[in-house]
Amino acid sequence: MSGKMTKKWGGFFRSLQMKLILVLMVLNLLVMAIVGTFLLGRVSSFYYDEFTRQMNAVFTDSMYHMLQNEAKAEDGATRLKDAVGAFSTSLGINSNRNYYILSGKTGAVITGSEDEASIVATPAIIAAINGRIGQETRLSQPYWDRAVPVMDENEVRYIVYIRDTKQQMQALSDQMFFIILQSLLVGLAISILLSLLLSKQITMPIETLTKSAKRLSKGDFENRPEAYSNDEIGVLTETFNNMAETLQQTLETVNGERNKLETLFLYMADGVTAFSGDGALVHINPIAEELLGVSAEDELNFESLYGELISLEELLKFAKDKMVERDFAVSGRNLKLMFAVYGDNDDGIITVIHDNTEQFKLEEARREFVANVSHELRTPLTNVKSYTETILENPDTPLEMRERFCNVILNETDRMTRIVKDLLTLSRLEYRKMDWKISRFPIAKSIDNVCQAMKMEMENHKHTFIVEMEDDLPVILGDRERLEQVLVNILSNAVKYTPDGGTITLNAGKEKDMMRISVSDTGLGIPKKDQKRVFERFYRVDKARSRERGGTGLGLAIAKEIVEHHGGKITVDSALGKGTTITFTFACAPKDEGLVQE
Ligand code: ATP
Ligand code: MG
Repeated sequence: MSGKMTKKWGGFFRSLQMKLILVLMVLNLLVMAIVGTFLLGRVSSFYYDEFTRQMNAVFTDSMYHMLQNEAKAEDGATRLKDAVGAFSTSLGINSNRNYYILSGKTGAVITGSEDEASIVATPAIIAAINGRIGQETRLSQPYWDRAVPVMDENEVRYIVYIRDTKQQMQALSDQMFFIILQSLLVGLAISILLSLLLSKQITMPIETLTKSAKRLSKGDFENRPEAYSNDEIGVLTETFNNMAETLQQTLETVNGERNKLETLFLYMADGVTAFSGDGALVHINPIAEELLGVSAEDELNFESLYGELISLEELLKFAKDKMVERDFAVSGRNLKLMFAVYGDNDDGIITVIHDNTEQFKLEEARREFVANVSHELRTPLTNVKSYTETILENPDTPLEMRERFCNVILNETDRMTRIVKDLLTLSRLEYRKMDWKISRFPIAKSIDNVCQAMKMEMENHKHTFIVEMEDDLPVILGDRERLEQVLVNILSNAVKYTPDGGTITLNAGKEKDMMRISVSDTGLGIPKKDQKRVFERFYRVDKARSRERGGTGLGLAIAKEIVEHHGGKITVDSALGKGTTITFTFACAPKDEGLVQE
């Protein structure tokens, strides 16, 4: 037998069906056994009662007298036989029930209804030999008998002995037993059939239910069992369906929540990592991967990620009812980590990672800015103070010396005024507080104006100034004065940072709907590492040299703000020792009619 078959049969014997069959069979057997025992008992007791009744009816006192008289004769035994024989119908004598005349002394058979008979002395015969009427009263004996002593004076002459072999009763009992056995078998067959039917009726819906439950456990909520009846199984099916419905709804809700959370985790600006209570990583969102510089594919756990900041045990102890915060610097970033324990039994730890790098930078820039401003203002102030003090303390200083000192003081105050003005401009630009004077104007005219103004400066430093302008330069919609300031700032840088006798080239042209102006020089150039920083406030490549040329590092920062306000960009391209090109763009005016200021 194959394993599958064994399993199937094993299942059958343990099944409800088998149990039902067994119960019905046992019930059937029990009923039959009780009925059988009762019936058989009744049959034998009926026969025994009948025997006793017949005996009592025949052996009356008068019969006894008659027998005594008959026994007195010479052939007493024969006479007694005839006398008893006359009552053979009343005594129920037949092939199974015989009567005998026994010797009163020995109990030996003298004559009887049966020719040859050997009768062993039964308790009844022994009683009769002793002068009492003897009879067998126990049902279980293989015979029933009655021995009646026939007395002569005080001596027992003969014994009339009736004996029933119980065969008639036995035959009936046997027949009955057979019938009972037959009905038992039929009953068994019927009970098996019935239990099969009944169990099928009961087990079928249960099997359907079991199958549904199995499907449910695999996540299939679609195929629900139907309730065919409204009995217990019907109620069970209905309850099952309700349960499945609730389960499905709960799962959907949970799924929805999870999706919500996952989406939140995915798109939130902060990184999130989650760990189970033993420190295994449960979740990490892309931002967290990026901030920590790890990949979810790596083998990550609490120890490997945050071990150097705080240990798991410590955290579980401290973060019970409050968040634990830690600063973490990793691969050039300043991160703020917030640890929180979730769940009542230290179920796990959630870490929120906030990127503080920008804030850090801003803070640093602010600090640097304050330091720069103080420094920039302190130097001219110190000069002003010392020159003023010298003049005041030495009343007899020669006049021309005083004039020179006063000029220095004037220059330094001018310088301070310029710095303060530039700073004000910058702060207005940054806080969008600038009053822009927007107008339409031809850019070619503006460039001409600036070049005229710069001419003197160029000549002072013996620079060759080349201006290349495309024809038909467009009209610009913007703040004329500020855009001119951008150009001035860039041109004066070129003048400042190019040794005397250099060449400065201005090139202006149109690109799509943008205006592009670039200023190239043959000057000092800017080292690669400083190039992207020259637009920062107070940033100077060579502090000492810039300062000696009157620079504070604000010109390009202001230029950048103004250019960006006009929808443009400013870039630097430079080679150290060879020269620098600063290019900036800004939007042209839309092509509709409007007042153009010459
Ligand atoms: P300010 O313009 O406020 O008087 P500044 O000229 O020093 O001071 P920026 O115009 O912002 O400040 O320039 C920043 C720095 O960039 C300068 O200090 C200088 O080191 C460098 N730089 C700017 N333009 C050039 C250039 N054409 N050639 C070489 N270096 C330059
Ligand atoms: Mg400058």
